[in-house]
Parts: sequence; structure tokens; C-alpha cells
Amino acid sequence: MKRLLLHTCCAPCLTSVYEQLHDTYEVAVFWYNPSIWPKKEHDKRLKVLTEYCKEHYIKLYIGDYKYSEEHKFWKESIKGLESEPERDKRCEICYKIRLEATAWVALEKHFDLFASELSVSPHKDAKILNELGSAISKEVGVEYLKNDFKRGDGFKRSVEISKECGLYRQNYCGCEYSTRDIVSR
Ligand code: SF4
Repeated sequence: MKRLLLHTCCAPCLTSVYEQLHDTYEVAVFWYNPSIWPKKEHDKRLKVLTEYCKEHYIKLYIGDYKYSEEHKFWKESIKGLESEPERDKRCEICYKIRLEATAWVALEKHFDLFASELSVSPHKDAKILNELGSAISKEVGVEYLKNDFKRGDGFKRSVEISKECGLYRQNYCGCEYSTRDIVSR
């Protein structure tokens, strides 16, 4: 089986994506989400993900970063785009930062492929994610797995599994600017 490093933003989004992939790939999860604000929320999502992975015997790699510094870097990267709506230019940069980090770790740890589960959300643009992932794949030299995990009721299934497992599910994407768009997710 090929080894896939899957960037993951939270346990609820991982659930159905892992279900879709684990028969075909040896999947390990990668956490790198300096976009999430505030730190308390960042740490809460990581804690829930860590517990979920442990319970389901899923290997988890946690990005080696200091939240305050990395969130500052993230804010500088999206400077000028703070008022953009979700799915627009700010999100493209945010996807890119997280996919790049995943690809470099995939290379370092000798994975065959990398991907992100972000496309499971109806709020995320799979086309943009795939374009970015393919470009990063050429730059870093690790294959990218094109995907749209929301297809085939992927998102609906993630909600079902999260409910069954009693997982904490946030009501905003992650950054301070996305708190303007609080919705049921
Ligand atoms: S809304 Fe989500 S994807 Fe977009 S910039 Fe904020 S954290 Fe990143």
C-alpha cells in the first residue's frame, strides 16, 4: 500500500475522509493549522484530533511550530486580504501555506503522496486546492492526491460520524476573519 500523508484541520473533517481512503492507502495524519484563532481554539481542535487518532489507531504527526510565531507569520502572509469572504483570495493563501508544509513533511518522512482533507467541507474549493497541490507537488517532488472529498455525501457522512462519536464541531472555519461567517458546519 502507498503511504499517504493527509493534512487535517480537525477531527470531524477527518472522519469520513479517512473512511474513504484507508482501504486504499496507508494513511497518516498531519496537523499544521496556524490559521486557527485563538490559541485556545487551536489547542482544543488539536486535542480532539489527537484523541480521535489514538482511539482509531491512526498515526498522527504534529507540526513542529510555536503558535504565536506561526500565527503571526500566517497573518503577515494574508495581509491586505482580511476582509475577503471565505473561499476567496485569503483562503487560497491559507490553503497553500498548509499544503506546502504537508508536502515538505511528506518528503522528509518518505511518504509516497500527500493531500489535505479540507475539500470535504462545502465551504472549501476543491478545484483551487487541487491546482495548488499539483503545483506544490512539482516543486517539492512528492505526488499529490487530487480529491474532492465532499463528493458522494462525504460531508454528510462526516457530520454523521462526528455525531456518533460525540466530537466537538466548531462553527467557524478557523481564523479570526472567519468568525464573521459563523454558520452551522
Ligand atoms: S476562512 Fe479558513 S481557509 Fe479561509 S483563511 Fe480563514 S482559516 Fe484559512
